[in-house]
Amino acid sequence: MPSLYDLSLVELESWVAERGQPKYRARQVWEWAYRHLAPSYDEMTNVPAALRASLAAGLPFPAMDTVREQTSDDALTRKRLIRLHDGKLIESVLMLYDPRSESRGRATVCVSSQAGCAMGCGFCATGQAGFERNLTTGEIAAQVIAFAREQKAHAKAASGRAITNVVFMGMGEPMANYNAVWRAVETLHSPEGFGLAARHFTISTVGLTQGIRKLGGESLQVGLAVSLHAPDDALRQSMISTAHRYPLAEIVGACREYIEATGRRVTFEYCLIENVNDAPEQAQALGRLLKGLLCHVNLIPVNPTADAGIRRPARARTLAFQRELAASGIACTVRVEKGVEISAACGQLRGDASHRPDAAPQQIAISGR
Ligand code: SAH
Ligand code: SF4
Repeated sequence: MPSLYDLSLVELESWVAERGQPKYRARQVWEWAYRHLAPSYDEMTNVPAALRASLAAGLPFPAMDTVREQTSDDALTRKRLIRLHDGKLIESVLMLYDPRSESRGRATVCVSSQAGCAMGCGFCATGQAGFERNLTTGEIAAQVIAFAREQKAHAKAASGRAITNVVFMGMGEPMANYNAVWRAVETLHSPEGFGLAARHFTISTVGLTQGIRKLGGESLQVGLAVSLHAPDDALRQSMISTAHRYPLAEIVGACREYIEATGRRVTFEYCLIENVNDAPEQAQALGRLLKGLLCHVNLIPVNPTADAGIRRPARARTLAFQRELAASGIACTVRVEKGVEISAACGQLRGDASHRPDAAPQQIAISGR
């Protein structure tokens, strides 16, 4: 059965009309759900009780139980483990930014688009656990609404900021679940409801070229991040088991088309792993690959996962890589990692109630996402 959050406003209007009710009732429900962040139909006091009862029976709120919530030591990052109606576990993360930082005032929700992931990146905890299923539009939107509701409840506290950004950088490959992801963007963008501006969404992909092209043709222009991790196909294929399907030349070609279609800058993510992809010559090769593209590279020192063989480079080596890339004319920063000690950082989400790395590594903080 679909949930309330699975429907668009137009679909909700049809649902209401099919039950002999005027269309404006749908808009009332929509406003309650996405503007006032009502947790149930009971709050919707200007909607007739009989309609509320049939909505609750036919279009329930999605079943998303928080199994556990962890907060980082600085209290700015919260990771939530959620059980879906069929028992599958996903994680979402809320990241608040230090008022003194460049990104001050932001409150970013990092959402999952799938339970697990089939793309097979060896350094990613989600990838190591394998694929379970796609999330629905409602399950994606609900992750954002749940944090928004909680933030609203803390409105008087400094931490009670409204959600300002949504990034598809949690569990799963969003382009492999394109339609549900895109509908969730449209729902959360809807000016009649949640009203988040298109440029405040970022979709991160491991490089599914059909998805990149499709995104370039959408009327809403959201941010695109592409996870590259290697300057050549042989190395990339050794790191990502499905990378042979998407050669780098095709990915870069799709990004070029996307930039031409939208005029927007693409972010490339490059996860730095010691002695794998962190050599200065590899930075030069990356510079050659991306030459002339309107882009920015985010260098992410790899976060610890269960695979003990993977280490982040020493800080000096990371900075040397950055310098080399910058020298070849590519804008690049080293990403601030948030919530590493609660395994809430990039690549650490695995829907596992027990996982926790033994030690929080040194954080390298130069610039945030
Ligand atoms: N599947 C999409 C989006 C989710 S992953 C993608 O791969 O882009 C979000 C980001 O986390 C990606 O850039 C990914 O490369 C990065 N990542 C994965 N494992 C990581 C790890 N162990 N340390 C740091 N970043 C990691
Ligand atoms: Fe999937 Fe992204 Fe993890 Fe790769 S990095 S396994 S694509 S979630």
